[in-house]
Amino acid sequence: MNAIRAFIAIELPQPIQSRLGEIIQELKSSTPKALRWVPPGNIHLTLKFLGNVSPTNLTSLNQALSKTVSRHRSFEFSVAGFGAFPNKLRPRVVWVGVAAPEELELLHHNIDRETERLGYHSEDRNFSPHLTLGRVSQHASPVEVKQIADVLNGYQVGELGKVNVKSVHLYRSDLQPGGAVYSPLFKAPLE
Ligand code: ATP
Ligand code: MG
Repeated sequence: MNAIRAFIAIELPQPIQSRLGEIIQELKSSTPKALRWVPPGNIHLTLKFLGNVSPTNLTSLNQALSKTVSRHRSFEFSVAGFGAFPNKLRPRVVWVGVAAPEELELLHHNIDRETERLGYHSEDRNFSPHLTLGRVSQHASPVEVKQIADVLNGYQVGELGKVNVKSVHLYRSDLQPGGAVYSPLFKAPLE
């Protein structure tokens, strides 16, 4: 059987996805095409990118995820702020921020540790929770990058709302010509 491209993430409520969609519409009109926007329905908070998962490992992965996630109490985070990685002057990933209690960091840490045990490597970078709205194409010209940076620098996002985290999902990602298609495969509830 073919490997599944998978990641673990927190789903966003529809009203927040809609607000993010409005922000994207606004920014889209003033930025070049080299900035590729995420379909609002695809926006989520990634906790761990697993990469290729063998279908035969799905059961043990789900079990490990259930067990780890169930040890965490449900918590709330707020969606607010706007920025880019590595920074707004050299934007590659454009994001809206999340302000979360320690529980999010802990949840991320424990999922990372448990999945690492199963062979899914952790990232070298520190966890910086964010909601990716768009990505600047590798082929963007310096002029396009400057145009994008100018728009991003003049843009602000206040608090869009709160997310009550009650579960975490394992998603599969199918990279199609029209963009990535995400489908939830498994839901792991918090305590
Ligand atoms: P595309 O790759 O076509 O731009 P995508 O990034 O939305 O689409 P995936 O690459 O399958 O789709 O990624 C799924 C999720 O995992 C996204 O949230 C993405 O930001 C995150 N992700 C992908 N690669 C990594 C990585 N190497 N490290 C951390 N997170 C990643
Ligand atoms: Mg990707």
